[in-house]
Amino acid sequence: MKPAGLNTRCVHAAHSPDTAIGSIAEPIYLSTTFERDADGEYPRGYRYSREGSPNRTALEGCVAALEGGVGAVAFASGLAANMAVLELLKAGERLVAPREVYYGTLKQFYELTRIRGAGLEVIDFLDPPAIETAIGGGARLVWNETPTNPLLNVTDLKRVVALAHEAGALVVCDNTFATPVCQRPFAFGVDLVIHSATKYLGGHSDVLGGIVVVHEDAALLERLRAWQSMAGSPLAPFDCWLLRRSISTLALRVRAQCRGALEVAQFLAGHRAVERVFYPGLASHPAHALAAAQMPGGFGAMLSVCVTGGREAAMRVASRTHLFTRATSLGGVESLIEHRASIEGPGSRTPQNLLRLSVGIEEPEDLVADLAQALA
Ligand code: PLP
Repeated sequence: MKPAGLNTRCVHAAHSPDTAIGSIAEPIYLSTTFERDADGEYPRGYRYSREGSPNRTALEGCVAALEGGVGAVAFASGLAANMAVLELLKAGERLVAPREVYYGTLKQFYELTRIRGAGLEVIDFLDPPAIETAIGGGARLVWNETPTNPLLNVTDLKRVVALAHEAGALVVCDNTFATPVCQRPFAFGVDLVIHSATKYLGGHSDVLGGIVVVHEDAALLERLRAWQSMAGSPLAPFDCWLLRRSISTLALRVRAQCRGALEVAQFLAGHRAVERVFYPGLASHPAHALAAAQMPGGFGAMLSVCVTGGREAAMRVASRTHLFTRATSLGGVESLIEHRASIEGPGSRTPQNLLRLSVGIEEPEDLVADLAQALA
C-alpha cells in the first residue's frame, strides 16, 4: 500500500479511539497514578503520570510519526523542550548557534552555557565560512532555527549536518516556523527536531507546549525521557489532548496559511510604504531557491516587513489593523501583527521599523484589504 498522505497521518497517527465504549474522540486520562497487578507488575504500561500517561503517549507518537523520528518527548513549553536538549551539553563542551534565533532561545544559550561552564559560539549563519570554522573548531551541539524568527533567514541544513557530523556533533533544528507540513529536517540528517507546540501544532492560541523529536538514536530518546521525568516537566494530559486534537487539522491549516502568507507577502512587496519584505516564498528572498528545495511543503506563514518611516510609522500601521490583532506569538488560526523590537526589549537587534506577521486562516483578500487600509 502507498504510504498514507499527510492529512491522513495528521488524523490517524497514534490515534486510538476508546475500545471500551467506542468513543471516537480520545478520552482524557487525568489519573496521576495507575493500578498495579496483584503480582506488583504494571502490565498496562503506566505507573505514575510524571513518567508517562496515555494522552502524552498519543501526542508524542503522533509528532514522531509526522517528523519521521523514532520517538518524541513532550514538555510544558517550547523553552522547556530547548532546556532538555541543552542539558545534553556537558561542562567544557561547545554549542555552536546562529545569532538569529528566537530571542528567548538565545537567552537560554548565554545563561545555560555560563552556568554549566560550557563553551558557546554564536555566529552569523548567513556566513558559510564562519559556520565551517565554528563547527570545525570542536562543536558538540549545533543549533539551527530555519526559517528564523523574526528575519526569516534560511539555513542550508544539509551543509550544516555534513560539517557537524564530521566534527562528531549533534544537530538540532527548531522546526516551529516550518512545521512538518513544510519542512522535514530529518530528511537532511538532523538528529533532533524541536517545536514550540504552542504555535502551529496547537494552532488555536490556547495551549503552551514543547516537543523534542529524536531522529534515530534510541539511547538519546531514553536520555531525554529520563530528563523529562527527573526535571518533572512533562506536558499535562489535557494539554496533550488539545495538541493531539489540533494536529488532526495541522496540514489543512498550515497549507491554507502558507497560501495566505504568499498573497500577503506579494501585496506588501509591491507597496510604496514598505521598505522590505522578509518571506522565503518570494523570488526576491536571498535564499528562495534553497527554501524551495528544503521546504517542499510550503514556505510557511510567517513574514516580516520593514515599514517606510521608522518605528513610529511601524507602530501606526500596527495600531490601524482590524483583522491582524496586535499580539505576540504565532501559528494560530487568527492573524497577528507585532512590533518585534519592543517585545524583545533592550539589546534587540531587530530593526525598529519591523513588523512581524503571523498569517492565519482568514481569506487572503480580507487580510490584504486590512493591510492596505492600515498602510494607506
Ligand atoms: N522557538 C521559537 C521559534 C519560538 O518562536 C518560540 C516562542 O515564540 C519558542 C521556541 C519558545 O516556545 P514557548 O513560548 O512555547 O516556550
